[in-house]
Amino acid sequence: MGKITQLLTHPDELKAVIQMLGFRKHLHQREAQSPTLKRCYELLNMTSRSFAAVISELHPELKDAIMLFYLILRALDTAEDDMTIDPTIKVPLLRTFHDKLKTTDFAYLNSKDKDAVVLAEFPIILAEYHKLKPEYQDIIKDITDKMGNGMADYILDEKFNLEGVHTVKDYDLYCHYVAGLVGEGLTKLFVLAGFANKDLMNDDFEKSESMGLFLQKTNIIRDYNEDLEDGRSFWPKEIWSKYTSELPTFYKDLSEKSQLDGTYCINELVYNALGHVKDVLTYLLMVKDPSSFNFCAIPQVMAIATLALVFNNRDVLHKNIKIRKGTTCKLILASRTMPGVVQVFKQYIQIINHKSPVEDPNYLKIGIRCGEIEQFIEKMYPTPGSIPKEAIRLKQSGKTDDIEQYIIARKSVDEQVAKEISAEEFNINAVLLSIFLVISGSIYYALN
Ligand code: MG
Repeated sequence: MGKITQLLTHPDELKAVIQMLGFRKHLHQREAQSPTLKRCYELLNMTSRSFAAVISELHPELKDAIMLFYLILRALDTAEDDMTIDPTIKVPLLRTFHDKLKTTDFAYLNSKDKDAVVLAEFPIILAEYHKLKPEYQDIIKDITDKMGNGMADYILDEKFNLEGVHTVKDYDLYCHYVAGLVGEGLTKLFVLAGFANKDLMNDDFEKSESMGLFLQKTNIIRDYNEDLEDGRSFWPKEIWSKYTSELPTFYKDLSEKSQLDGTYCINELVYNALGHVKDVLTYLLMVKDPSSFNFCAIPQVMAIATLALVFNNRDVLHKNIKIRKGTTCKLILASRTMPGVVQVFKQYIQIINHKSPVEDPNYLKIGIRCGEIEQFIEKMYPTPGSIPKEAIRLKQSGKTDDIEQYIIARKSVDEQVAKEISAEEFNINAVLLSIFLVISGSIYYALN
């Protein structure tokens, strides 16, 4: 009942839910699958339903590669997470996991983890992995190698195990291993498939690193309470030590002072995460294929919405907070075009800026960062759908900046998608109108 009431009080979200359920045009149709491929998609569904949904819509050229990339990293992470595996077995397993990709029969049957099935049925994953283009296999193997070794380093790092993340630099490095590397692998796949601009590989994958870090940091901020219950924390001490001498204080000490300090700490962490936004938006601009764009954009818009929700919100210290289902549908639909994504970011940046309390020690810094992001957005997309000012400026100056090409390349894609969206809008409005007519008709007859 609660969910229905929520939807009725947010009509735009109700519309989004109906649109998601029946009217959204699917980018790519599903094809016939071999039994092992079918099983791989079942494994994907069992381990991550939200990821399965976005992967199922990907372009056929990359769909299986990205699905297998996910399953292989899921298997690696399952081995890492399983506390019943002794470190003398676990560490070499993680370090050599990429070598198992050369075999056809590797399986690990002793895991007690909830996702143990991925390790147990690894030969099925291998069978499909070996069918991928060799270049795709190499990318997946390389990232598995780097991530497995990173994970093993953390297991052996006693200081990390006892005290968690120390400096902001350590925080970035931890996020690099668990998320930045995924961004690097995906970027290589997109570029190789011709779906994204190869410039994304410049500067040591700086922009894809930001894509991963923005998502990971958002989860880390939101999961304070859940992680603490599991006896761990990833908030960097360099930040939280400004507000408390022990991290669990925010959870235990309910005094006004402690709760305020906890909130300011959250706000500083959000400020830190917002440092990745310009990179994220530039990255998205450089993804050309609509299905890959969707795949990249959806988690990012969810992250900015989550950051706006956790910002200045003391509930984060005590429970798990989540964005509403209806909001999620609205965000997914907005993620189909670059102007749509940019509007979502602009909206939530403004929410964060308005929520920022004057008493916050970082009030000024937060205001400046939000202002910079808004300016960046305004420069590229002054109003949704119009020709970006930046492109005009570059044209007038006779310069052929890459950014101009990115914006122009995206524009034709966005226009095509926008046409499809307006057709959907027409259908959905017709449905809403019929519902309205039926209801008002019933009321009329009931009254007469
Ligand atoms: Mg893990």
